[in-house]
Amino acid sequence: MLLYADLHTHSRYARACSSNITIKAMRDQALKKGVNLLSAGDFTNKEWLNELKSNLIYEQEGFYKLSENDSIYFVYGTELATNFDDGGKQRAVHTVLLVSSYEIAEQIRDALIGKGDLENGRPELKISNEELLDIIFSIDANAIVIPAHIWTPYFGALGERSGFNSIEEAYGDKASKIFAIETGLSSDPLMNYYVSRLDRYTLLSNSDMHSLKNIGREANVFNIEPSFKALYAAIKSPIDKLIYTIEFYPEEGKYHYDGHRRCSYSVNPLETDDIICKICGKRLTYGVLHRVKDLSDRKDPNQRPSRIRYIHTVPLYQIISYVLRSSEYSKKVNELYDKLISTYGNEYKILLDVSIEQIASIDKEVAEAISNIRENKIKIDPGYDGVYGKLELLPYRAEGDRDSKSRSSSIKDKQRKLFDY
Ligand SMILES: [Zn+2]
Ligand SMILES: [Zn+2]
Repeated sequence: MLLYADLHTHSRYARACSSNITIKAMRDQALKKGVNLLSAGDFTNKEWLNELKSNLIYEQEGFYKLSENDSIYFVYGTELATNFDDGGKQRAVHTVLLVSSYEIAEQIRDALIGKGDLENGRPELKISNEELLDIIFSIDANAIVIPAHIWTPYFGALGERSGFNSIEEAYGDKASKIFAIETGLSSDPLMNYYVSRLDRYTLLSNSDMHSLKNIGREANVFNIEPSFKALYAAIKSPIDKLIYTIEFYPEEGKYHYDGHRRCSYSVNPLETDDIICKICGKRLTYGVLHRVKDLSDRKDPNQRPSRIRYIHTVPLYQIISYVLRSSEYSKKVNELYDKLISTYGNEYKILLDVSIEQIASIDKEVAEAISNIRENKIKIDPGYDGVYGKLELLPYRAEGDRDSKSRSSSIKDKQRKLFDY
């Protein structure tokens, strides 16, 4: 069956997450989005683990459900942060973990007591990545370990500030038991194809949601039986099992370019290696595109041996918010969102499958924006230093806006080639 999987989520117990994230609310939003396999998130937090235990009742080969007839599967998962001194350099790396049962989740939680603050849903552990993987694999040899958002400057395994130059360096001996990495919002598979040291890793995309609306903003579409074993096998050998990934435009991600949020200043690292801020004279926050450029070593991205299809899209809330010039949290945006969902089933169907004419029968401009997204005709002023990229989904409208920035690049032009050597 087709599983639309978001394998990196958070509960209300993780820092900076909304207080309304309950397991039932996650299920309801997944249904609207079209996601049918979710990481249950944050299992190292005791209160959340108890909520999962009392709600995820029906177990089927390592996948869980709220009730027998429910269509949404959950898998026990969490994100763990390690923070450690590595020969004088401070490292900080985030890692996603998925396991096949409540019992294993509980054992891993117990083994991490005393290693860091487990009250935070995404705990900060004062141990190295190797120690962490020793603990995990000694409890469950078949745990799925995925380095999270690998390019982000501060917490990515390959991040410029506190990361490494390869997954093997970041995780030592235990890297041989890692089969996949998470590309994060600010990079897409194409960017990763330029880096041959990633050839052996399946490229996964997840939401890393901190609010319900963001469930499934990136996801992986598998064609497998609903079981943990099948998921493990598909992540290890993705051909014909991982059908495609659903991606943010990487320019929309908040660490794409180099820049300074406070100075409203950013630069395209493909045009310059200068990372000094012209406004304040300090060093800019290094973006994901720059870091990929540093580690890239091939001219032709198609030389990557195994390439899975991927589709860029934009969350429907954002599209409606743009069209109506109104906040994502406003009543009119939510009403139009719910009308579209109740008419066509779920968000992925609307973004990817439903005909433009059908969408136009409910709202012409939303239909036009979706058509532009499907044809890569949108423009984006890229994100930097924690600021999300700014989308122009209806270009004629942007031309009328006096403040629209001329440097927004057309996505289509540079789609197939990033780096020229
Ligand atoms: Zn993280
Ligand atoms: Zn500055």
